[in-house]
Amino acid sequence: MVNSIRTRFAPSPTGHLHIGNARTAIMNWIFARHAGGSFVLRIEDTDMERSTRESEMSILDDLRWLRLDWDEGPDKGGACGPYRQSERLDVYRQALNQLLSGGDVYPCYCTTEELDEQRRQMENGKVIRMDDPCRNLSSAQKSSFESSGRKPAYRFRVNQDDAAFEDLIRGPISFQADHIGDFIIARSDAMPMYNFACVVDDHFMDITHVIRGDDHVSNTPRQILIYRALGWNCPAFAHIPMILGNDRVRLSKRHGATSVSEYRKNGYLPEALVNFLSLLSWSSESEDEILTKERLIREFDFSRVSKSASVFDVEKLNWMNGVYIRGTEIEALMPMVKPFLEPVFGPVDEVTLRAVLDLLHESVELLPQIAEKGRIFFTDEPASRNAEAAALLATPEAKAVIRAFLDETSACSRWDASVFQGIMKTVQQKSGVKGKNLWMPVRAALTGQMHGPDLAKTVEIFGIEKCRSVTAKALE
Ligand code: GLU
Repeated sequence: MVNSIRTRFAPSPTGHLHIGNARTAIMNWIFARHAGGSFVLRIEDTDMERSTRESEMSILDDLRWLRLDWDEGPDKGGACGPYRQSERLDVYRQALNQLLSGGDVYPCYCTTEELDEQRRQMENGKVIRMDDPCRNLSSAQKSSFESSGRKPAYRFRVNQDDAAFEDLIRGPISFQADHIGDFIIARSDAMPMYNFACVVDDHFMDITHVIRGDDHVSNTPRQILIYRALGWNCPAFAHIPMILGNDRVRLSKRHGATSVSEYRKNGYLPEALVNFLSLLSWSSESEDEILTKERLIREFDFSRVSKSASVFDVEKLNWMNGVYIRGTEIEALMPMVKPFLEPVFGPVDEVTLRAVLDLLHESVELLPQIAEKGRIFFTDEPASRNAEAAALLATPEAKAVIRAFLDETSACSRWDASVFQGIMKTVQQKSGVKGKNLWMPVRAALTGQMHGPDLAKTVEIFGIEKCRSVTAKALE
């Protein structure tokens, strides 16, 4: 008997970690940590055709990137392993034998064509519940099928039970078992189907709380019937509402990035993604939206998980990402932005990078924007000029300012923001131009834009040589 909370995340390794599944993992992780329990990672790879080790590795990698640590799993081991379903086939076989000998499961010899026909009839509404023709075969009939070479699948016998359950989020959910119909729990090669393997594993892994997407609600009654037939206690169930795109249709590729790896590649911070995904169906009593993991863990409560679907608002995620970027130390941001800079600009100088981040990190929402906004700092080419800047630089007054700037900087031995301010004062006195008309031409010449980050800091990062060569080009 266990007395400690145990949750699990049970991905099927058939692709990348989907954002909806990441949310499920986060909820399981938060609840386990909140309760001081354990978080288990189980790989559901019984679909041999679609499961790959590559996908498993990428899922684990994304979970690590999100900094969700698990206590037991395929890479870590643990007392309830193995944690890959493909390595647990003997456990399912034993449970299957138990169900067969108790009469809760029977061999079904129907061919795929026969099953397809039965399904068609169900879909046409002709029958609500499929009474399998193999339900009550005599031993002689079974032997005859066996000798004709048919290999049976294994079907669970659903009796007229009620399979209602109390969902921790949705409250009571009732299902009439006689609407379910006998269902296959293992294929003819004895490979378990999802509902069966899931029950066996959740039982032997001592899982106390099954927290998963509400696309699984209709599986839960089947699972409950299997628990009962095996004489096992059911865990608690919590089905979290689905995620919709901004058009209120279930989130899909059509809405943009749907995998964690895409968000990672697009410059989101894991803390922002975890914070955002947690708030898709849960809210803090304080109504605060920026919540550290510590607060998410401390404040989590099932009673505050919403029953209705939530909309994935990418603008809110971007805003949140900006907040997290602003809250990250420059030193910590440096290695995070390099992967977005180096493929474009080659190796970047650390001193320049530090200064550029200091200048720009408060004005971006996504890490790659440092590469866009900071382009002028990482290349020696003059910035491409927008139309407004080009028009301004074509005026005689702007040219005079630039010429005076070049004159005044020709003999500079020291260069920083305050030297630049001093020089601009001299340029103002000598040219008689002041205010916007003085500063704008210099900004336009240096950055190619009429607006941008602090000019004194910009010139300091450029250094005197680059400032002079870039401004000189503006006169050409
Ligand atoms: N492998 C299933 C999935 O990825 C797990 C469902 C569950 O949590 O029971 O949907």
